[in-house]
Amino acid sequence: MARRRTSYYDYYPQFSQPSVSLLRQNAEESIAKAGKRGKTYHPVSPKGSGSRICVSWWGQAWCTNMERYADYANRLPRGKRYVASGTVLDLEITQGQVQALVQGSRSTPYRVTISIDPLSPKKQEEIIARCNSEIKDMEDLIYGRFPESLKELFLARDGLFPSPRQIHMNCSCPDWATMCKHVAAVMYGIGIRLDDNPFYFFSLRGADVDSFVASALEGHVESMLKNADKVTDRVLPDSDITELFGVL
Ligand SMILES: [Zn+2]
Repeated sequence: MARRRTSYYDYYPQFSQPSVSLLRQNAEESIAKAGKRGKTYHPVSPKGSGSRICVSWWGQAWCTNMERYADYANRLPRGKRYVASGTVLDLEITQGQVQALVQGSRSTPYRVTISIDPLSPKKQEEIIARCNSEIKDMEDLIYGRFPESLKELFLARDGLFPSPRQIHMNCSCPDWATMCKHVAAVMYGIGIRLDDNPFYFFSLRGADVDSFVASALEGHVESMLKNADKVTDRVLPDSDITELFGVL
């Protein structure tokens, strides 16, 4: 007979979490109430499931980065369950900041704020320079693929993904500690947003996406002019680029 898996909550039932059905019901009610006040939330819906909650290279790399830090190891699993239950009702990413609403067992959602230190100008210049040297890298980024040649730059020890000391969190819940389950859910929510649009990564790190793309494209135009006779259909039409960046 298969042995039943035991969890932390089997040993400490007094800390048991609200049921998924209660959380979902509360979430639906909060979204409906906001609608009556004329507010539209943009809930976070994972494309993946189980331990693989993010599906893109970007989303998965975001999760892997968080999960490798001992400071977060005990607190993150609850967040995964929470975000999978549809509790992150709204999540907005702006320059270096994340604002989110997370449903708990109480009827009013909690407000979570996460701010992330910006990349140094030197790091930003490095990315642009690397993208300019390979036109394919920029195309890969635009289409949500990860350029192999940038892997080292992103994933190195002092790479571009933030470390815990560069991430500052806050939650309006009464049991707020270093990382409550609401903040943990938002941390996964960020990865899920990156599945939709990897350029959020640059906003998160305080990089001005418009100028980043503009200088990268400028470099491409220069290289295209130099190689005018070699231009192929790999060059993106302007409309595609505008459409993609319009969603940021
Ligand atoms: Zn909280």
